[in-house]
Amino acid sequence: MALGKVYLVGAGFGGPEHLTLKALRVLEEAEVVLHDRLVHPEILALARGEKVPVGKEGYGPKTPQEEIHRRLIHLARQGLVVARLHGGDPMVFGRGGEEVLALKAAGVPFEVVPGLTSAVGAPSLLGLPLTFRGRARSFAVATGHDPSQPLPQADTLVLLMPLHALTGLKARLMERFPPETPLALLARVGWPGEEVRLGRVADLPGLGEGLPSPALLVVGEVVGLA
Ligand code: SAH
Repeated sequence: MALGKVYLVGAGFGGPEHLTLKALRVLEEAEVVLHDRLVHPEILALARGEKVPVGKEGYGPKTPQEEIHRRLIHLARQGLVVARLHGGDPMVFGRGGEEVLALKAAGVPFEVVPGLTSAVGAPSLLGLPLTFRGRARSFAVATGHDPSQPLPQADTLVLLMPLHALTGLKARLMERFPPETPLALLARVGWPGEEVRLGRVADLPGLGEGLPSPALLVVGEVVGLA
C-alpha cells in the first residue's frame, strides 16, 4: 500500500483567524488529526477527520512522545493523510523537532506547516513591540520553567511556561535587569479569559498570582512603551 503523509501543522496561538491558509487546507484534507491541548476549539472544529487528543496533564491522558511518534508512523504506513496539530508553531517548544527526526528515521513522507507562535504573535496582537528603533535591537525566546537554565542575552525577553517558576525567575531577572524594568504577563491571548498584567520585575512573583494558563512573560524596556 502507498505510504500516507504526515503534516506537522502549527495551529497558531489563538483562534481560527490566525490559522494559515495552508494549515486550513491540511485540516480539511487530513483523515486523522492528532492534536495537543493548546489548539483552540474553533480550530479543531474545522478538522474533518478523526480527532485524537494527545494531551499532557490536565487534558486527557498524558501521551508519551514516543507513543505519538509510533502512532504517526503507523497511521502513515496505513496510507492515511495525518495532521499532527500543534499550538503555535510546531518547532517552538512543541517537540516538532523530535517528530521530524522520528519520521525521517522511519522513512515516512512529511511536511511542516509553520504556525504563528505565541512568543511573537501574542505580544504583537496586544500591541507590544519586541523590538523598537533605538530602544531594543534584539529579543530572545526561552522557557521560563527551568530555574537551572541561564537567561539568554537580549534587550527583550519572552519567557514561555513561566507561571510555576516566578519566584526563581525574579531572582534571575534581577541579575540582568534593574528591578524597575517593565514586564507584562499575557495569559490566554486570543482565547476566552484573556488577561494582561503589567508591572515591574520587582512585582514578581505576586503579579502572577491566580493567573490562568497558558501564559507568557515579556520583559524589557519595550513593555513600558506599550
Ligand atoms: N508551540 C507553542 C508553544 C508551546 S509551549 C507556540 O509556538 O506558541 C506552551 C507555552 O506557550 C505556554 O506555557 C505559554 O507560555 C505559551 N502560550 C501558548 N499559547 C498561548 C496563549 N494563547 N497565550 C499566552 N501564552 C501562550
